[in-house]
Amino acid sequence: MNVPQALLDRLREIITDDQDLISDPALLRTFECDGLAHYRVTPMVVVLPTTVAQVSAIVRVCHEMEIPFVARGNGTGLSAGALPVGDGVLITLSKFREIHEIDRANQRAVVDPGVINLDVSKAASAAGLYYAPDPSSQQICSIGGNVAENSGGAHCLKYGFTTHHVTGVEVVLPDGEIVNFGGYKSVDAPGYDLLGAFIGSEGTLGITTKVVVRLLRRPELVKTLLAGFNSTSEAGEAVSAIIASRILPAAIEMMDALAIEAAEKTVQCGYPEGANTVLIVELDGPNVDVSMGIERVQHICESFGATEVRIAKSEAERALIWKGRKSAFAAIGTISPDFIIQDGVIPRTVLPEVLGEIAKLGAAAGIRVANVFHAGDGNLHPLVLFDESVDGELERANAVSGAIIDLCIKHGGSITGEHGVGADKVSYMGKMFNEYDLDTMQLLRCAFDRENLCNPGKVFPTPRLCGEVPGHHRGVHPLVEKGLAELF
Ligand SMILES: Cc1cc2nc3c(=O)[nH]c(=O)nc-3n(C[C@H](O)[C@H](O)[C@H](O)COP(=O)(O)OP(=O)(O)OC[C@H]3O[C@@H](n4cnc5c(N)ncnc54)[C@H](O)[C@@H]3O)c2cc1C
Repeated sequence: MNVPQALLDRLREIITDDQDLISDPALLRTFECDGLAHYRVTPMVVVLPTTVAQVSAIVRVCHEMEIPFVARGNGTGLSAGALPVGDGVLITLSKFREIHEIDRANQRAVVDPGVINLDVSKAASAAGLYYAPDPSSQQICSIGGNVAENSGGAHCLKYGFTTHHVTGVEVVLPDGEIVNFGGYKSVDAPGYDLLGAFIGSEGTLGITTKVVVRLLRRPELVKTLLAGFNSTSEAGEAVSAIIASRILPAAIEMMDALAIEAAEKTVQCGYPEGANTVLIVELDGPNVDVSMGIERVQHICESFGATEVRIAKSEAERALIWKGRKSAFAAIGTISPDFIIQDGVIPRTVLPEVLGEIAKLGAAAGIRVANVFHAGDGNLHPLVLFDESVDGELERANAVSGAIIDLCIKHGGSITGEHGVGADKVSYMGKMFNEYDLDTMQLLRCAFDRENLCNPGKVFPTPRLCGEVPGHHRGVHPLVEKGLAELF
């Protein structure tokens, strides 16, 4: 789509470096998708601002001209959250790369939204500190994207998600105003928890331009155990037993036979030979607790039929165990030309049952499903394998992928654990939430973005303008109606 000249002129007044304002159709294509590459939309124009004032000015222009805009971090999202709008502006924050401050005494860092997740820990390591949330994409994803998605990772079992590690954000609201939510040193700001509402809002409430994160002290000891099992159900039972024994590992990750095969092909991680499933269990904390705890975990794994249990003896061995797990998504490409990465949650107590049902779903459809996931908190990542060149496989894979999410809902779980709803899962929202829930969520969105210009088409199943009373055709909840009357 051609950029209206008036818009281009206004943007050129703000972004003076030609390289940071992209309207050439060939170059625009670089930005047409995130990590979920089967969703593609070419944006009308891309801007790469370098200052907060520029972000605010760009958003003001969009607001005035009623042009939709989408924030983009490093484009690793797996829910098409940063999918551009065809008649909109894509605002890329990747040039915001400064770590402003590492405050050792208060265990805080102040960072730009484009800073890569792992770089925060690297910068803090001299102070003996690190940033806990560790998505498997942590070598490439941005803190701004993590805040938008409330990203998790292997160690979220013990340490929680991004929301537990961000104490404040600076935000450009959808009308261009710059505000701060949360605080710096304080653990709780007075008033409504707008920071809590903003984290995980998937880029629909504004653009993050600065983030204050909490840093943790490096633990005294870390021990990583690798256990091989003959079946996912035995491994699943072991997970429940470990948690029931009152040990709280920093991480418990599970990979099944297909995921192991792919990881071995890619990084030769030396997982137990012939294992149908592996568990990676990591304990961290004071020396005594970890040393005693890891022995108990070993004992539990053995009592649930582990064929081999290995505890890493060196940092190199530990890194190799994790390398297999962290490369698993990308490695799947070695065993299947195409695959869908699903993300759902179930209570961990039903792990063995649900894994069995997933296997049955795949077998019935003639579709292979690999499993690699955060077993400790029941966050599944089934990888549904298919070959698009084979007639009907894509449709069958999509059906299996959708049925897995239905299973998660049926078992009291959720449609997403950490990748977000984005554009990909909007159709599942109505399965998980009733109309009143959705109307209430829409009310919050409208309080920030009345014009529906900020990342439109994401999260909500039926996008509508805020001026319309959501659900009026079906009888809106009286409280919502009252709220709307006051808002508009
Ligand atoms: C191999 C692989 C492994 C992964 N593993 C994990 C994992 O273990 N855990 C996990 O949670 N995720 C994981 N992800 C998903 C992804 O990396 C995360 O969602 C990450 O937070 C996205 O960051 P990003 O910078 O790439 O954001 P993008 O993909 O660019 O954007 C993601 C969302 O954030 C919004 N956004 C980005 N920057 C801003 C900003 N400054 N202000 C407002 N909104 C913004 C966008 O509009 C979009 O909605 C993985 C992805 C890959 C490819």
